[in-house]
Amino acid sequence: MSVQSMNPHFELSSDPVISQMSSMDHDQILFCSDNETGLKAIIAIHDTTLGPALGGTRMWSYKNELEALNDVLRLSRGMTFKNAISDLALGGGKAVIIGDSKTMKSEALFRRFGRFVNSLAGNYITAEDVGISPSDMVWVNKETDHVVGLPGKSGDPSPVTAFGTYMGIKACAKIRYGTDSLEGRKVLVEGVGHVGEYLVEHLRKEGAEVFVTDIHVDTVSRIVKTYGVKGVELDAVYGLDMDIYAPCALGGTINDSTLSELKCGIVAGAANNQLGIEDQHGQALLDKGILYAPDFAINAGGVINCFSEVEGLSSEWAMGKSEEIYNTIYNIVSRSEKERIPSHIIAMKMAKEKINKGPKK
Ligand code: NAD
Repeated sequence: MSVQSMNPHFELSSDPVISQMSSMDHDQILFCSDNETGLKAIIAIHDTTLGPALGGTRMWSYKNELEALNDVLRLSRGMTFKNAISDLALGGGKAVIIGDSKTMKSEALFRRFGRFVNSLAGNYITAEDVGISPSDMVWVNKETDHVVGLPGKSGDPSPVTAFGTYMGIKACAKIRYGTDSLEGRKVLVEGVGHVGEYLVEHLRKEGAEVFVTDIHVDTVSRIVKTYGVKGVELDAVYGLDMDIYAPCALGGTINDSTLSELKCGIVAGAANNQLGIEDQHGQALLDKGILYAPDFAINAGGVINCFSEVEGLSSEWAMGKSEEIYNTIYNIVSRSEKERIPSHIIAMKMAKEKINKGPKK
């Protein structure tokens, strides 16, 4: 994509986010604004080589529009790689709605957003992401058919995402410890929302020693009681003596500050955009001898679930396909170890090879 300014005195490409937009090669970016409903949203379509761009809508209180733009650019590109590496006939896209999901939701706002999605004529298919529930998507669906994750259809993708993440964690354990059994392994789950809670359940069933943290203390108390796990204060998270760190909250938690504390053997969780600065922090993990399961490959269960709805496939198909995440992560991480190249770069290469081959006939 080329970014051009209509004003010769205004150099758009000097802005770092605009330059990033250009360098990430997005197909299309739609800025949506509506005073009547208070809607402010951005829809980013990164690539549609393999099929229509599919990716959820996130509602978040971004500090400003640039922060939201930065997020949607990275998330939509991640969807392209995620869909490609999972062999789904889908391209990559994502949307963000700027606002507080606890106070700003209304039918009018979501219907207006639905009309923007509809204006893209099926090039972008939306679903739930952080801050969005299936009932919000019912409002979106009143204005557009290009929406999945509706109640009564494939539903909440989180259990499938958690199952795929669990498979990816086991694959990493196999490489690191020679066995994929998680019995007795110390695992920290950061963020026990939709995905995190299901992941805790899988880990506990297998006998892992699980630690949890969340910004909501009530949630931590409930999870501690329900699953017999240990709660950890937010400021003690990264220094914890653990085998596996599973980020399941928001992105950017692998950064200079956390890397100086992290002592685990594996980073493998469901959150998107885990690496603060992709190349720098991916390399730093490799240098520290920490195995990293690239986020877009390990958390593909959700989009696999959405794809099953697009194609009319069963929930059994979605679970079976998500089980394959074990092999995908095993291949990526073992190649990374052998070639001494950060795993996210290996995974991107594999995804790009699939995109370059084009859609399956
Ligand atoms: P969610 O909103 O249900 O859960 C996120 C949890 O993280 C919440 O409980 C929140 O309180 C907590 N949290 C937020 N900031 C935190 C912080 N700084 N420290 C600790 N906890 C914090 O979201 P979710 O659907 O469970 O998704 C979790 C992550 O997985 C997101 O990054 C999302 O993009 C990614 N993901 C989700 C799916 C899915 O199917 N839901 C699919 C793929 C990727």
